[in-house]
Amino acid sequence: MKKRLMPIVTFITALLLIAVGCSQSPQAKEAPHQTKNGSSSKKGNLPNIKILATGGTIAGADKSKTSTTEYKAGAVGVDSLIQAVPEMEDIAHVSGEQIVNIDSQNMDNKTLLKLAKRVNELLRSDDTDGIVITHGTDTLEETAYFLNLTVKSEKPVVVAGSMRPSTAIGADGPSNLYNAVKVAAAPEAKGKGALVVLNDRIGSARYVTKTNTTATDTFKSEEMGYIGTIADDVYFNNIITRKHTKDTDFNIAKLKKLPQVDIIYGYQNDGGYLFDAAAKAGAKGIVFAGAGNGSMSDTAKKGAVKAVKNGLAIVRSTRTGNGAVTPNREFEKDRLLASNSLNPQKARILLMLALTKTDDPERLQTYFNEY
Ligand code: GLU
Repeated sequence: MKKRLMPIVTFITALLLIAVGCSQSPQAKEAPHQTKNGSSSKKGNLPNIKILATGGTIAGADKSKTSTTEYKAGAVGVDSLIQAVPEMEDIAHVSGEQIVNIDSQNMDNKTLLKLAKRVNELLRSDDTDGIVITHGTDTLEETAYFLNLTVKSEKPVVVAGSMRPSTAIGADGPSNLYNAVKVAAAPEAKGKGALVVLNDRIGSARYVTKTNTTATDTFKSEEMGYIGTIADDVYFNNIITRKHTKDTDFNIAKLKKLPQVDIIYGYQNDGGYLFDAAAKAGAKGIVFAGAGNGSMSDTAKKGAVKAVKNGLAIVRSTRTGNGAVTPNREFEKDRLLASNSLNPQKARILLMLALTKTDDPERLQTYFNEY
C-alpha cells in the first residue's frame, strides 16, 4: 500500500513546487522589467514617479456603480487613487501630491502656473524621475499643452484622466493611471514633451484632443496620429517635430500672472461687438474659432481689425477640428495671425505665453509656425 502511494506523493510535491515558483511575480525573482524599445530596470532600481492629482472624473465617485455621467468629479484624493492600483509598485516607486481637486472646467491660469512651477521644481531634483498628472478630461489637453511649453526638463511628464468615475463598473481610471506610470517610468518617454495617456494610447500634448463627450476612446490625434501605444509594454511609433519643453522661449519661474486671452466663435450672422467686449474686459489677445480655414465674416473681421488697431493680438484658428489655418494675404495685411494646426483652446494657451515675450505680430506668428 505504502509503496503504491509513494509516486503519487512525489508527483503532488513536484506540482506544489512548480505552483509556488509560478506564483512569484517576475519582479520578485529580480527579473528585469522590460519595455519593448529596449529599456530595462531592476526592481531595486525602479524610477521615482510623482503623481500630482488635480481632480476630474478619474477622482470621481457616485453611490451608483452604473452611473457614468452623474457623479461628483474630484471626490477622491490622491492616496485613494494610488491605493486602488498597488501594481504600480512593481514598475515604479510611486508617491502622490494633491495640487487641487476640481472639475477641469474650473482649471484657471493661477492653478496652471502653480502646477507647472511645481512640476519644474520636482523635476529639478534627482529624487524625481518622471511625473504623472491626473486631470479632468474636459480641459486636459490645455493643461498638457501648457506643460509641453513650460516644463524645462527632458524627464517624462504624463497627463492622464478617465471617462468613467472610480466607482463605475468598468472604471477606466485604474488602468489609465497604471499605463501613465508605466510611460513615465520608460526611458524612451524622455525628451518627447508632455504626453497624454488614456485608453492604451500615448498622444503628444501638441496634437491630441478630446473628441467625444462620454466615450472612453475620446482622446484622438486624427491628423498626426498617436505617438505611441501601451500593450503591456510601451511602444513609441512617432516623433514630435514641434518645439517643446527645454526648446521653448517660455520661462514661467518668475511669472505671477498670464495675460487674458479669450476665444470668440465664428458663425453665420456673427458680429464684431464680441471683440469690443473682450477688449473692454481686459483681453490682450483673442483667438477666433473661424469656419473652415479661419475665415471671418465681414462684420467679425471689422471687429478684429479694430482690436488689432487697439493693440490686441488676434489669431485665427478653426472650428473644423482638423487641418492648418494658413496665413493668407487677405488677413496678413491686417495683421490677423494664423494658428497653424493648433485648435482654438491650444492656440489660446500659446498666445498667452507668447504675449509674455512680445506683442509684435510678426514674432507672434513665428511662435505659431514653430510651436
Ligand atoms: N467635467 C469634468 C472634468 O473635466 C469631468 C470630465 C472628466 O474628467 O472626464 O473634470
